[in-house]
Amino acid sequence: MSETIFSLIINREIPANILYEDDLSLVFSDINAQAPVHFLVIPKKPIPKLSDATEDDQALLGHLLLVANKVAAEQGLTDFRLNVNNGAGASQTVFHLHIHVLGGRPFSWPPG
Ligand code: 5GP
Repeated sequence: MSETIFSLIINREIPANILYEDDLSLVFSDINAQAPVHFLVIPKKPIPKLSDATEDDQALLGHLLLVANKVAAEQGLTDFRLNVNNGAGASQTVFHLHIHVLGGRPFSWPPG
């Protein structure tokens, strides 16, 4: 697949406020925060979108959720929202799978 801006962040070719990293994942602050805390959890594996994940990615997807939990706790969040935009029609703009984690303000439901 073609490289996205997130590949450049993984490779440290452009800067980001990195909050966590391990062999499988990277977490960094969203450049256009929609809440007092807004970070992105991404796999290092360049899966374009959630619906491109396969059975082979089962453990990786679970890992990303646990990383989201861990960093949310480190950021002092107890209540927080996870969001995955899958496809352009769902407002996905960067085609490298990412979980948005937002916190620090109230959230309503349903989302817009
Ligand atoms: P999407 O709309 O694809 O679900 O979300 C992509 C997110 O990536 C957006 O919230 C956007 O602000 C963020 N983003 C786009 N480019 C950059 C960048 O260069 N650095 C960082 N830290 N975030 C970015």
